[in-house]
Amino acid sequence: MSCPIKETCTFSNKQLHMLQERRDNIEVRFCKSSYGQCARYKMYEYYKSPSKVPPDLMPNDYEKMEMIIRSDKKQKW
Ligand code: SF4
Repeated sequence: MSCPIKETCTFSNKQLHMLQERRDNIEVRFCKSSYGQCARYKMYEYYKSPSKVPPDLMPNDYEKMEMIIRSDKKQKW
């Protein structure tokens, strides 16, 4: 099953620039199968809004995703 938010995703819409080979690998790894493991999708799940996912967040950038979520949780306390 492919990712349910691909219509609004900057990676899927090719707004994130990278080599085609790298793009293809990410698509196979995340978009076309395990989208639940994608950092962009995880961030969407956290915020429940595609517009809250940073446009430049790479699908495999877990460090940045965790930093943003941790910071958001701190602000809510
Ligand atoms: S990069 Fe992630 S959020 Fe975007 S379409 Fe692929 S799996 Fe979905």
